[in-house]
Amino acid sequence: MSVVLITGASSGIGSAIARRYAMQGANVVLADVNDEHGVQLETELKKQGANALYVHCDVSIPEHHEACMEATLREFGRLDVAVNNAGIGGQGAPTATYPVEEWRRIIDVNLSGVFYGIRAQLPAMLKQGKGSIIVISSVLGMVGFAGAPAYTAAKHGLVGLVRSAAIDHSAQGVRINAVGPGFIDTPMIAGVMQDPQVAHDVVARHPIGRVGTPDEVAALVAFLGSEEASFVTGGYFPVDGGYLAQ
Ligand code: NAP
Repeated sequence: MSVVLITGASSGIGSAIARRYAMQGANVVLADVNDEHGVQLETELKKQGANALYVHCDVSIPEHHEACMEATLREFGRLDVAVNNAGIGGQGAPTATYPVEEWRRIIDVNLSGVFYGIRAQLPAMLKQGKGSIIVISSVLGMVGFAGAPAYTAAKHGLVGLVRSAAIDHSAQGVRINAVGPGFIDTPMIAGVMQDPQVAHDVVARHPIGRVGTPDEVAALVAFLGSEEASFVTGGYFPVDGGYLAQ
């Protein structure tokens, strides 16, 4: 039975990924700072017969990743797939006035948090000689967005991190890939979508004519984590309704 660790698993895309893997029969480790929703999801998945373990993990703290890996190995003995998904949107402001503290917060969680995760997850996978690491970047890992310099820089940075890590470790059996969602219907964007004009503008950026669902991202993640993707590493894969095609 494969073991899958997901950060940011308590909500949105992360919980869809966790549910999908649990339905496939995987053992899932749910890592998040939202303990209430994380424990709820753990209970839900266990009721459905899955092996699920919730672990409190603030991805911006390297020691939390180490503790999360210890819990994973103690409970399930191995790690096959790690999905570094946790991320935050942060304040919107033009670059000239973007608050330095907010820049640091976004980079800590969205970029450094993924590096700390990969660094903690790799030893178990290298020991096994096998594993798949998936990083949730964004379409904003490829193009810019007004008022979001920190988020956009972090998501671009993830693509570089994934490429470099894949060059370092693919020959040792660990594949590492980035996924780039367009706007996805989750609590992260719920606030901005309340304004009908903004919602219309957001949808208009997607040639498919709508935003995506968390399950549509989970489906791509499941492929990248599977043996079907055995020759896929170091890549960036959009799941964006055509956002980047324009
Ligand atoms: P979400 O619904 O807000 O879920 C994110 C989860 O991560 C929440 O449970 C959140 O907890 C948790 N979290 C926040 N800070 C954390 C930290 N420091 N350590 C661990 N967990 C933390 O967001 P989502 O839309 O599913 O986003 C998931 C990923 O997809 C993010 O990396 C995001 O940037 C990326 N993405 C999202 C979209 C989109 O349109 N939704 C598009 C492209 C990329 P709290 O609820 O307590 O904050």
